[in-house]
Amino acid sequence: MDCLFCKIIDGSIPSDLVYEDENVLAFRDINPTSPIHILFVPKVHFASLSESHGKEDALLDVFKAIRAYVAKEELDKAGYRLVINAGEHGQQTVDHLHVHLLAGRQFTWPAG
Ligand code: 5GP
Ligand code: ZN
Repeated sequence: MDCLFCKIIDGSIPSDLVYEDENVLAFRDINPTSPIHILFVPKVHFASLSESHGKEDALLDVFKAIRAYVAKEELDKAGYRLVINAGEHGQQTVDHLHVHLLAGRQFTWPAG
C-alpha cells in the first residue's frame, strides 16, 4: 500500500520516533508548527475517523498513548492542543489517521 505513514511504521522511511507501543507509533512532524509537534498514528491503516468502523480499539489506543506521553512530558501543566485534520476543508494531506499533538507555545482560537 502506498501510504507514507505505513512506510514510517514499517521502518522503510525513517522518522524521529518519540513513542511506540504495540498498537501506536508517534514521531516528530517533519515540518513542525510549534516547538513540540508530534504525530500519533495507529499501526493499523485507515484513512480517517469516518473509516474507523471496526477499528475503534485503535482510536482508543491512540488517545491512551497521547495521555501517557503528555503525562511523561508533563505537557498538561502548560497545556497543549490535539488536532485531526480531515478531508479537503480540514486540509488532511496524509490519508492515514493521525492526531497532531501541539505544545510549547500559546495557541489562539478559533483556528484559522
Ligand atoms: P495532515 O495535514 O494530513 O493533518 O498532516 C500530515 C503531517 O505530516 C503534516 O504536518 C506534515 O508536515 C507531516 N509529514 C509529511 N511528510 C512527512 C514525513 O515524511 N515525515 C514526517 N515525520 N512528517 C511528515
Ligand atoms: Zn497507512
